[in-house]
Amino acid sequence: MNLQNYLQHLLEQRQQDNLYRTRLTHENTHTPMLTIAGKTYLNFCSNDYLGLANHPRLVDSLQQNVNKYGVGSGASHLVTGHSDIHHEAEQILAEFVGRERALLFSTGYMANLGIVSALLKRKDIIFSDKLNHASLIDAATLSPAQIQRYRHNELEHLQHLLAKSSAPHKLIMTDGVFSMDGDLASLPELVKLAKMHDAWIMVDDAHGLGVLGKNGRGMLEHYQLSQDDVPILMGTLGKALGVFGAFVAGSELLIDALIQFARTYIYTTALPPAIAGAVITSVDIVQKESWRREKLQESIHYFRHIAQQRDIPLMDSFTPIQPIMLGTADKAMQASQQLKEKGIIVTAIRPPTVPQNTARLRITLSASHEKSHIDKLLDSLANIW
Ligand SMILES: *Cc1c(COP(=O)(O)O)cnc(C)c1O
Repeated sequence: MNLQNYLQHLLEQRQQDNLYRTRLTHENTHTPMLTIAGKTYLNFCSNDYLGLANHPRLVDSLQQNVNKYGVGSGASHLVTGHSDIHHEAEQILAEFVGRERALLFSTGYMANLGIVSALLKRKDIIFSDKLNHASLIDAATLSPAQIQRYRHNELEHLQHLLAKSSAPHKLIMTDGVFSMDGDLASLPELVKLAKMHDAWIMVDDAHGLGVLGKNGRGMLEHYQLSQDDVPILMGTLGKALGVFGAFVAGSELLIDALIQFARTYIYTTALPPAIAGAVITSVDIVQKESWRREKLQESIHYFRHIAQQRDIPLMDSFTPIQPIMLGTADKAMQASQQLKEKGIIVTAIRPPTVPQNTARLRITLSASHEKSHIDKLLDSLANIW
């Protein structure tokens, strides 16, 4: 088939299924506000959970480091792209999450691909939660290892699969906080299972880092799990930390192996050094401004409390991710459009991002939301219901 005809067919199908994606183009963002076509909206779907993306100290740090290092890193880490400030950011991240060593990656997506490609071979096996983030699914799919998907957080199912496997290396991988549902992986139990079956465990803490734990060290601080319990930790820097990029943390040997074998680390340009500098500043803010986590938790409680009073159906989540399940893609699109008309942006999340018939509004709260913003959201939601 002619390429143009083929593309036309693909896109028409996407539109018919109500799954066609468009991009909201904004002129300005200052969490929690977004300006689109000259109009200001309240944003309830960003991952800037602590409201750091516009923090004056971060902006200042980035500017100063651009003055010192320039913009681009100029090469990959193994050629000449690795600067002292990348190195320092890695040390600070390792210390922050209580691991021996950390390694910066350009994105979380690439970090997940890199871990799996570096560690697993053809006879090995990956156990993956069915609701894991797309980047973990892709990491598994692109690796030569076998894949077994276990039902979401169902440990008995996982145990059954683990017991049946005689693969030389077994890797359990899971989101820490599930990105579209907001619930937590049952990590302490997963860690026990991993130990019992001689499996490795990897946690993607994209939505826990900065948010969970007294000091914002994430899911593993929340559950008090050590490097020995969870040997492979991935964290992203573009969500609660408000910057960009990602890292993997673990033992010296793990990081050394990733430097040698993770193709998404080796064959790509290093992050701009000034970004690494901003990460250092962000880790400092995350620890010093603990009021942001406290305010966020208060907002989550408040939102849930009032939503329940108004019969707005919530899911079982105490994280900033507060989805409202609508079922069909049409319903989710309609609700999102109605909110937009009321000055609120919450994008509809549809398949294949989530399973069939679980399209939803994925509301996210941020420390930058004030009570009046949440009231406006609740009023608008109640109105739509
Ligand atoms: C956002 C996200 C990623 C990808 O991180 P990026 O740095 O944005 O590429 C990976 N895993 C989860 C669970 C995420 O939510």
